[in-house]
Amino acid sequence: MNDSRMPYAVAATVPHDQLGRALHDLRISVTDRCNFRCVYCMPKEVFGRDHQFLERRELLTFEEITRLARIFTRHGVGKIRLTGGEPLVRRNLEELIAMLAAVPGLDLTLTTNGSLLKQKTRALRDAGLKRITVSLDSLDDETFMRMNDVDFPVARVLEGIEAAAAAGFAPIKINMVVKRGMNEAGILPMARFFRERGHILRFIEYMDVGHTNGWRMDDVVTAREIVERINAEMPLEPADPNYRGEVARRWRYRDGSGEIGVIASVTQAFCRDCTRVRLSTEGKLYTCLFATGGHDLRSLLRGGASDDEIDAAIRAIWAKRSDRYSEIRTAQTAKLEKIEMSYIGG
Ligand code: SAM
Ligand code: SF4
Ligand code: SF4
Repeated sequence: MNDSRMPYAVAATVPHDQLGRALHDLRISVTDRCNFRCVYCMPKEVFGRDHQFLERRELLTFEEITRLARIFTRHGVGKIRLTGGEPLVRRNLEELIAMLAAVPGLDLTLTTNGSLLKQKTRALRDAGLKRITVSLDSLDDETFMRMNDVDFPVARVLEGIEAAAAAGFAPIKINMVVKRGMNEAGILPMARFFRERGHILRFIEYMDVGHTNGWRMDDVVTAREIVERINAEMPLEPADPNYRGEVARRWRYRDGSGEIGVIASVTQAFCRDCTRVRLSTEGKLYTCLFATGGHDLRSLLRGGASDDEIDAAIRAIWAKRSDRYSEIRTAQTAKLEKIEMSYIGG
């Protein structure tokens, strides 16, 4: 098929789920391992020394991931985010980036904790990656170390961000999960710091992902509170979304000095526009971040299924989808045995 005609040809066949949502974004977890133990994601008590991570043969290979990515583009997927676990701990990740960068019509991006970014930036860039998101929860070492729980210093993440900016990544997005009593004092210092540097800071409401982080509603600092705090010092105005279904709500500094985003998945659920699907490290497909089960695509890949057969399986999974967890979240649902975020991909 001629690539320039593809969007129109594909548009006619894009499947819709039970709530009329199309499939646009694919998040791929390339590893369930991580060199951090963020308290809200991989608490040490659960992800300790004897924790069993997936074995190498269980992981999708780069070839398998790329084959699936190509099939997903037939469904209208135009955006892929590589995540994990920590994607940069997967060996030779740049080879996968180069393979995905060669798939026509894909907007490719990656979320990282930034710890290995300084040494990997050049290879990522050369492989064809153009956009990057770096997670950083505080500029204060003591707070940051308490959150990453492996004594990792802020300065090394900042060096990674600087290296990425110097290598031409733009805009760089910074993710900050805000947890009450932990890092909310860092909201303003973070906003000031990244506004000066021209990076887009995005505040994420602390979520009840997985079932190990001991989430309580009282620990959530709401998007509204975050915006009010910043607005009091640096006046903000709402900005239009870049596209329908954008996860972060955008706010612009009134003086034109940039923007922030707030991801209010707890207090302002955006399920209605959720066009995302997640592929786990071992090739299970999850139609919601809060799913309790996935669909095994690896056995199709390794069992000799054709592209058309895999395509049909994905179509059938999406057609049945009715997820809207954040809209129906309660203290009770928070206790469900959901899949861990480090495995399913944040
Ligand atoms: N390791 C990479 C990183 O930290 O950027 C990528 C994977 S991480 C699971 C993806 C994003 O999910 C990060 O920005 C992280 O802060 C966020 N995240 C993890 N647990 C969360 C939680 N309980 N609530 C809100 N965001 C969370
Ligand atoms: Fe690792 Fe990212 Fe989870 Fe932190 S948020 S433990 S860096 S996967
Ligand atoms: Fe999408 Fe599920 Fe999150 Fe709702 S709760 S926005 S359906 S991933």
